[in-house]
Amino acid sequence: MRWDSLFRRRRDAPLDCHAVAERLQEYLDGHIDEHTAARIEEHLEDCRMCGLEAETYERIKAALAARRPEVPVESVARLREFGERLARGDEPRTST
Ligand SMILES: [Zn+2]
Repeated sequence: MRWDSLFRRRRDAPLDCHAVAERLQEYLDGHIDEHTAARIEEHLEDCRMCGLEAETYERIKAALAARRPEVPVESVARLREFGERLARGDEPRTST
């Protein structure tokens, strides 16, 4: 089909902002193929708007990772107690 060949011919055209925005998250998470990643990188270098967006997203991701709550101490203690009971052959205590 004509449209198909047109599409195929355009496959390696530079990505526009919309196309980059759609794939940005996958790109930053590393869930994208090398070829597409290279094209996104190219666009981010040229386009200030998308470059800023990528930067913002990375900052949010870093902030979320830094604030990931630690496992509460009491949960660890309860888990250890549960493990000890099992090791002794006791019936595991149910919460009800
Ligand atoms: Zn852009």
